[in-house]
Parts: sequence; C-alpha cells; structure tokens
Amino acid sequence: MKHPFADFSEDDAEKLRLEAEVRIKVDPHGNPVMELVHGDAVSLSDKGTIKHLKYVADRFHPCNCNAQEAIGGRCGEEGCGLVNCHRCFRKCESCLIGLCVVHQRMARVGGKVVVLCRHCLGQWKRKRLLRAVAGLFVQLEAPKEP
Ligand SMILES: [Zn+2]
Ligand SMILES: [Zn+2]
Ligand SMILES: [Zn+2]
Repeated sequence: MKHPFADFSEDDAEKLRLEAEVRIKVDPHGNPVMELVHGDAVSLSDKGTIKHLKYVADRFHPCNCNAQEAIGGRCGEEGCGLVNCHRCFRKCESCLIGLCVVHQRMARVGGKVVVLCRHCLGQWKRKRLLRAVAGLFVQLEAPKEP
C-alpha cells in the first residue's frame, strides 16, 4: 500500500512531523486501499521556514456530489448498485426500483416528465407504439361521412 502522504508531501522540504488518519478500505478486487481522512504535515523549507499543512480529504458519492449529502439509495439496475445522494437518487415511477443518475430514463407521459428504469421505459415505448398503431387502424376503419 502506498503511504497516504506520498501524494502530497514535498520532497524538497525536511519533514519535522507527519500525522495522518487513514481509513483502510477494500477495493472491488479484495485489495486493501488506504484512504486519507485527514493529515497534518509540519516541514522545514531550505530557507528555514516552518510550514504546517493540514489536509482534509473530500469524499464524493458516485453522482459526484459531496459525501456530506445524505445517502439517497442504491441503484437496482442489474450490475450497477451505485449509491447516490438523496438529491440525485430517484425511483422508477412504474416498478419503484432505485435508480442512480446513470440509469434514470426520462419519459414524457401526458405532458409530465417521469423517471423510468430501462425495463419500464422499454415497456412504455412498446405500449405507446401499439397505441399509435391501434389509433391508425381506428382512423382507417372509421366510417366515411356520407
Ligand atoms: Zn448527488
Ligand atoms: Zn421500472
Ligand atoms: Zn445505476
């Protein structure tokens, strides 16, 4: 594992004190990953200046919103499972599965924009097509005005 200070410490400065709080996470392949929570670095520059840097890691939801935002829910689309914040997370208006920003499909139903999952959007499109075809037949078969 890479030391969490490896990314942000300056090589030219002489370190006097390094402190870091790290969280050990496991990546999708099962390997441990070090994640910096916050750190503190006191260093001495070649000109004799004592530098004190505090590092705070900002964390983000997969929807790119700050992790300070409350969790909305987990996406129910197959193979996804991403957790979005409460502002980005939506539910399919038809089957009510949770949807992340990537898997939200918009459809205009009766002048109103609704969020649908991939499956329900497919069904809705098919129904709309059937209705359009049926409407055409009604028109064709309508008795002609005498
Ligand atoms: Zn979000
Ligand atoms: Zn659905
Ligand atoms: Zn998703």
